[in-house]
Amino acid sequence: MGFQGVPLVKTANKKDISEFAAQIADQLDCYPGRVFAPIDLPRLLEIRAHQVFGLNVEIQDLDPSVEGITIPGEPATLVFSSKMYDRLTDYANGRDRFTAAHEFGHVTMHAPQLSREYRSYNQRSSRLYRRSDIPWVRDPEWQANKFATYLLMPAWAVREVVLTTGPNAGVLADIFQVSLQAMGYRLEELGIPS
Ligand SMILES: [Zn+2]
Repeated sequence: MGFQGVPLVKTANKKDISEFAAQIADQLDCYPGRVFAPIDLPRLLEIRAHQVFGLNVEIQDLDPSVEGITIPGEPATLVFSSKMYDRLTDYANGRDRFTAAHEFGHVTMHAPQLSREYRSYNQRSSRLYRRSDIPWVRDPEWQANKFATYLLMPAWAVREVVLTTGPNAGVLADIFQVSLQAMGYRLEELGIPS
């Protein structure tokens, strides 16, 4: 369906994003006592992020190809598709959890930078770039994926859990409630052979 571009956002590399995700996790008390348990994402977004950032979460029947929309503003609004959100609350499956954390990354990192409403960065927005034409570190989609990775699978937690379970990606994916693929990438990034 033609050109789907993204706006350039401020440069953030893996280290920047990992530090930022840790800061957000602290602020919202995602891992109380620094003991790992999977974040309850609906509670995080609807209650904690609402209390701390004023974030609004709305559930709507969206086009089937859209699972979430970030609407920048003061405060920002996160719109999730009702299908996706039902799955998230009922089954906490890894893919939906990643999507929710990804959108939360847009809210915390990009909403303040992007004043106008955008929906999957459609053509009505200005100055859009092909993702392949811009550096990763300035691609909001890459950044949001990294944010989700670091929020859901913090390095300290993965390393700690691996000590008891061993580096089995399938077992770890279940414990962290992420997809096998996401855990596989994370272990690779942390240099943990699985
Ligand atoms: Zn996105």
